[in-house]
Amino acid sequence: MNDTIETFQAELLTCTKCALAATRHHVILGEGPYNAPIFIIGEAPGYEEDLHGRPFIGPSGQLLDKMLDACGFNRQEHVFISNIVRCRPPGNRPPTPQEAAICLPWLQTQIELVNPKILILLGSTALRYMAGPGYRISQTRGTWRTCQNRLTMPIYHPSALLRNPALKRLTWEDLKSIVYTYRQLVNPSHTSAYIP
Ligand code: SF4
Repeated sequence: MNDTIETFQAELLTCTKCALAATRHHVILGEGPYNAPIFIIGEAPGYEEDLHGRPFIGPSGQLLDKMLDACGFNRQEHVFISNIVRCRPPGNRPPTPQEAAICLPWLQTQIELVNPKILILLGSTALRYMAGPGYRISQTRGTWRTCQNRLTMPIYHPSALLRNPALKRLTWEDLKSIVYTYRQLVNPSHTSAYIP
């Protein structure tokens, strides 16, 4: 890890810029290689994440790992995973606009450090704070757009798929589009057991 990333992480770990610092157990740094070609943005850490200091390790995270695996992706090589805010909002509520605005510069810096080819926005909160308040996930999922000057795909959050399994079929189409684009932009030889 180079000095810039180490300095960034050390500063982030001690951040007290918003009120969420008062109730957190851990600042969630994000997870994945700092040269990952795909950057995934969720909403906020939940109970398990706050307790253990890692992103997406509860039921939603386990489903996300299965979705990534079906695409031939994993956290060790292909994706960096982060959130709109890095500290858990009490009761797992969505972050407020003020909390998101205060934390967003950390995310923007992290995206610049990783320098991914593809952004994936998981769910309505990531979509709202990255693309703007006028967008709805049900209307924009599966469509490529530009956020932070990068090619970006919004998809349903895994927690929405757990609540409503009927959304899995649509999400599978979105994941296939991401794999096809990954092959065009990053690695033409990328293989997935399920996506020819
Ligand atoms: S949520 Fe973000 S801005 Fe607020 S204390 Fe945590 S790291 Fe800092």
